[in-house]
Parts: sequence; structure tokens; C-alpha cells
Amino acid sequence: MSTMPENETVIHVFGEIDFKITTEDVLRAMKIRKVAPSLERTAATLVERATEVARPKALCRVSYIESRTDDSVTIEHQFFTSHVLRQNLEGIQRVFPFVATCGTELEQIMPDRSDLMASYCLDTIMMLAVQHARRHLEGFLKETYSLGQISRMAPGSLEDWPLQEQRPLFDLLGDVEHQIGVRLTEKCLMIPIKSVSGLYFPTEVRFESCQLCSRANCPGRRTQFDPQAAARYGV
Ligand code: SF4
Repeated sequence: MSTMPENETVIHVFGEIDFKITTEDVLRAMKIRKVAPSLERTAATLVERATEVARPKALCRVSYIESRTDDSVTIEHQFFTSHVLRQNLEGIQRVFPFVATCGTELEQIMPDRSDLMASYCLDTIMMLAVQHARRHLEGFLKETYSLGQISRMAPGSLEDWPLQEQRPLFDLLGDVEHQIGVRLTEKCLMIPIKSVSGLYFPTEVRFESCQLCSRANCPGRRTQFDPQAAARYGV
């Protein structure tokens, strides 16, 4: 991990986060009821190669809120429009914009993606890698800044905070591609795809965007839709 004070800006960069997984971890995450021996062999081979090359990464900046309106906040000269974000940052001065990624290394272990099951297996390993990087960062922030409960929001997770707001988020973080290899496409998607971004902030009650999202059958849902919370937030 390196910390770069730029004038008074503090950016923490984690370029090579240790990542160890087992074949069982991958098969469990794939949620396949009956695992064929051939799939188990494929998963074991990919896990072995992934363990050698995977370098999940993360980056965060310690940032301060400069001003607010009813539905926007300005953080270190970057303007964000979201009623929900604005409400979540009520009374908060310091936030932690971040990006975490599985890294570019894993994609290279299987350039040919024609075997769909093997491809799904590798995607699952990449998903576990980015989750690991994000949790590593979260643990670091809690310990380093003596934070109790923290929550996060991501541009694009709710209609209220559109994906286009990845631009000011990345501008806030500086040269993300140079630091950890993540770039934004014209449509504001991140490459590598298995990357996550957003803002961490301290909270007394844990916040999840899924509370305010009624999308049915979402495989990524972390908590139930809460219509009362949605009404409270006005979304
Ligand atoms: S339910 Fe799914 S789409 Fe909705 S916020 Fe949660 S993860 Fe995102």
C-alpha cells in the first residue's frame, strides 16, 4: 500500500492486495446445484492459475465536502447531483471516494472465452477478487480513520444518482488508470468490468442502495426493498 500526499490531498493506493481462494469458494459462489466432475476440474485449474497472477487493487482519497444544496454536494471542486447522496451526507464533512478492481491480470489467463462454463467460472473468480479488494479497503478505512459503521453509494446504483456521475468521481480520484488500471468508457462503464466505485461515508445505520431499489430478481441484491425508506428518501 502506498499513500500519496499531494499538497494536502491524501490518496491511498493498494496495488497488490493478497488474494487466496479455494475451488470450493468458487463453486459455492457459482451457485450450481449439481457440480459435474469436469466443472470441478476446470475450477481447480483456474483457481490455481488465478492464485498465481491475481492482483486485486483499490484506491481511495480522503475528501471533504465543500458545499451542499437540497439535492447536490460539492466535494473538493467536484459537483454531484443526488438527493439520496445529499441526505446520506447530512452532517458529514469527510468522505472517501474509491475504486476497487479485480485487476487486469485475471482476464489474461483465459483469452479464449468460447468455453461458456469455464468463462463463467473465471467471471466468478474475478467477482470474488473485486469483492476482496473492496472489503480490504473498507477494513483499512475503518481501522485507519477509527470509523465505526460505514456505508457506500455508487453512481448508477439508483436513478437518483446516474452513471454519468462516474466522471466527477474519477476526476476526484486523479489518474485511476495509471494507479490501478481502471478506466472509464465513453458510456461511463469501468474496464475491467469487475470493478466497483463509489463513496464511503460514516453512518449510524447501515445504508444500502438496494433498500431504495424495487428491481425484481436482481442477483446482486444485498438487502430487501424497503418502501418506507424509499418514501422517506423521496425516491
Ligand atoms: S437491487 Fe440490484 S440493481 Fe438495485 S441497487 Fe441493489 S444491486 Fe443495484
